[in-house]
Amino acid sequence: MPLYDSQHIKIYNTLSGEKELFTPITPGHVGMYVCGPTVYSNVHLGNVRTFMSFDMIFRYFKHLGYKVRYVRNITDAGHLENDDDVGEDKITKKARLEAIEPMEIVQRYTVDFHNVLNTFNFLPPSIEPTATGHIIEQIELIETIIDNGFAYVVNGSVYFDVHKYNESNEYGILSKRKLEDLIHNTRTLDGQSDKKNPQDFALWKKAEPSHIMRWPSPWSDGFPGWHLECTAMSTKYLGEYFDIHGGGMDLKFPHHECEIAQNKAAKGKNPVKYWMHANMLELNGARMSKSTGNYINPAELLSGDNDKMSQGYNPMVVRFFMMQASYKSVLDLTDAGLKAADKGFNRLMEAIKLIDNLKTSDSSSFDVPSWKQKCYDAMNDDFNTPILIAHLFDAAKYINQIKDGSATVTAEDLELLKASINTFTFDILGLTNVSKDNTGTDKLTGAVEILINLRKEARINKDFALSDKIRDELAEAGIQLNDSRDGTTFTTN
Ligand code: AMP
Ligand code: ZN
Repeated sequence: MPLYDSQHIKIYNTLSGEKELFTPITPGHVGMYVCGPTVYSNVHLGNVRTFMSFDMIFRYFKHLGYKVRYVRNITDAGHLENDDDVGEDKITKKARLEAIEPMEIVQRYTVDFHNVLNTFNFLPPSIEPTATGHIIEQIELIETIIDNGFAYVVNGSVYFDVHKYNESNEYGILSKRKLEDLIHNTRTLDGQSDKKNPQDFALWKKAEPSHIMRWPSPWSDGFPGWHLECTAMSTKYLGEYFDIHGGGMDLKFPHHECEIAQNKAAKGKNPVKYWMHANMLELNGARMSKSTGNYINPAELLSGDNDKMSQGYNPMVVRFFMMQASYKSVLDLTDAGLKAADKGFNRLMEAIKLIDNLKTSDSSSFDVPSWKQKCYDAMNDDFNTPILIAHLFDAAKYINQIKDGSATVTAEDLELLKASINTFTFDILGLTNVSKDNTGTDKLTGAVEILINLRKEARINKDFALSDKIRDELAEAGIQLNDSRDGTTFTTN
């Protein structure tokens, strides 16, 4: 029986403004789309935080036994400097400034993005589509929206008619904005724009002669609008109605609002069952922003080579720090906060290392099965990682007490404690047990421990040929296993 039969997740849905019980559209399957980065500069820690929240959510769904298709795109064209369709394409501008091909910019920062995410132990998404790889799908989508009467062509560009759409739909349904208020708050068009109304947004932009990234279309040689890309890619890989769409809070409007409008205009359907928005990362109390200089990039944070922090931090300490806050809260990155996370992370890792050498008793002085369920309850409550971490610290305290002799545990509870603490810490929070001195010793310990556990399983299954093979081959590699009443340890020569 899959775990999702007994563990029921509640998700805060931005669309309804309420926590709702998660019921997948197709039983046992989860389709999740998260807006990926625009690859025109190095990924910043704010981006990392948002993607980390969805990495944890992806991990939890997988742990519960769902078959998850997680799509996170790469925006490699069409994202203009300003959200209201003005300014240069971010990637083209960077390419012009550096006098290189736009695709060199895309390649450089896509590689940087993947490297940074690997450093923080992210799982790769199931599909990572690029906007430029889906131009045909985007053109088809625009044609449908024009045919349905929700878009118009002017001078080779195509615009979504927000006012027309709002006659029969609710523009603002996600961000809780009203079109009347938007009209009231926007300046009138200056006569330079092709748009009928300032609220309209571009589905296709005709490229200026100097614009390198351009594709032929029925309307002009040009490039797609940023909002349209996500609609085309999510629909292609997850269908017209899928479970979860995520992104940072700043994308709720206009980006996600426009995605909903495009889907409804093209397919007549609201595309997403649960909209999830991750909150922003701040630096020393102010929004992290490159333009104000209140900014630190991942490499600087890890190396300590910056003027904001007193030292460098291990990526797992940074991950632990981020997981100590709910994905829905604003999080302030500070030196004091990271120092505290460093201590907390090491306390948890030390406790986990002790587990294998604990003595067992006839009874347990701590209710391990109900502790385990509390860990699930925390995750089921809209992925409440801070509460989960509080429970992991309760377990760490218990482990230390068993070691001191002031608490007891049965062999059965100890196995359960070990399996559960490993699951929640490593599989779900995505932490790894890092070695402090970088000698690689801890990686070896981890690998040998896996083999020790496999051997133990083989013995339980009475597969002595396999258990002997593991012992003998490790011995040949210079690793001796030593069995005792308290379990198996190893020595190297
Ligand atoms: P971008 O590359 O700017 O399109 O952003 C990629 C993702 O990072 C989006 O989901 C943004 O909402 C998110 N993001 C941008 N800035 C921050 C921040 N300061 N804190 C958290 N997430 C952010
Ligand atoms: Zn998007």
